Amino acid sequence: MNSYKIGILAGDGIGPEVVDSACKVIDAIGRKYNFNVSYTYDLIGHAAIEKTGNPLPDSALTMCNNVDAILLGAVGMPLYDNDPSAKVRPEQGLLKLRKSLGLFANIRPITIFDELLFTSSLKPEILKGADILFYRELTGGIYFGTPRERRDNGNVAIDTLRYERSEIERIAHMAFKAASRRNKKLCSVDKANVLESSRLWRETVNELSKNYPDVALTHLFIDNAAMQLILNPRQFDVILTGNMFGDILTDEASQIAGSLGLLPSASVGNKVGLYEPVHGSAPDIAGKNVANPVAAIMSAALMFETAFNRKKEAEDIKRAISQVYADGFRTIDLAQETTKTEKILRTDKFTEKIIESL
Ligand code: NAD
Repeated sequence: MNSYKIGILAGDGIGPEVVDSACKVIDAIGRKYNFNVSYTYDLIGHAAIEKTGNPLPDSALTMCNNVDAILLGAVGMPLYDNDPSAKVRPEQGLLKLRKSLGLFANIRPITIFDELLFTSSLKPEILKGADILFYRELTGGIYFGTPRERRDNGNVAIDTLRYERSEIERIAHMAFKAASRRNKKLCSVDKANVLESSRLWRETVNELSKNYPDVALTHLFIDNAAMQLILNPRQFDVILTGNMFGDILTDEASQIAGSLGLLPSASVGNKVGLYEPVHGSAPDIAGKNVANPVAAIMSAALMFETAFNRKKEAEDIKRAISQVYADGFRTIDLAQETTKTEKILRTDKFTEKIIESL
């Protein structure tokens, strides 16, 4: 394919700034590799509520169903965070989008740039060479199971952890396939010593493993996995988890990369996929042209790899970012007082450096 339609939902806070950077890099890659990209824009989050009263207007949903991939910035504003009772909220737009598009798999690569090893809270010698790819189930498990209610005058609270075999199979297939394209190791995380749903999870993953004889499958209990992740992150290749365990583990793993401003994600299902930075709308730095655009740009790279099957282009983007870091350029979030050789750039200038490096 030589032309792609990308839907843009820039959202709130630093969303528009980092998405703008990602689009510039996408354009540069298009010029270099000779393909066309067209963008369609719509609203989500607070920006959408302000204009339409709806955090995900119908026009945005229609747009999302008519593009090859969606690039999202971030949603959220302090006015909602400070008012938990607000009925219409930015994050409802994101949840509705995930649900409508059937995005059941959340993919989060944890890539560590060698030049940034010292910014992590882990020792560089433990971290160097770590490269982990998470597959987290996104539409099932305890966040969605019912009943979910209060009983006995509010003194008893009930949530339900429910998984169906088919829900486990579809994400496990994806994770096995990813592992067979990488280092052929898959670690499935559960709590099968305690939870019945985890026993079904493990049983199902074990059955599927017969279809992927080239992938070495291991299982870890969630508590051990949380420990192993910081004890020896290099032992992992692809990690497969249910919804809640993945929520917690991926945030833990995000810290080993050094900054929230570095991490991309993809949410995929049967139709069009959603590509977005892991970070939120960062209202504290919004509008100041200081946000780190790398997470959004890496999300574009993930889009090239996953949605457009253009691995070379994705690798090229990663190489360009790595080069800019090697040349000593940083956004303010990665500034280290101890290193005098760093050159701190604003978002737009940092993006230009990446494009020059392409
Ligand atoms: P956040 O990720 O927005 O920010 C946390 C901290 O990291 C802040 O100090 C921020 O300045 C910094 N940061 C984040 N991204 C950065 C970047 N690209 N470059 C430099 N620094 C960066 O999380 P938060 O402060 O907890 O939440 C802010 C708002 O975002 C809330 O309304 C929250 O609900 C929302 N949120 C949205 C998403 C999403 O859209 N997927 C995810 C998380 C939070």
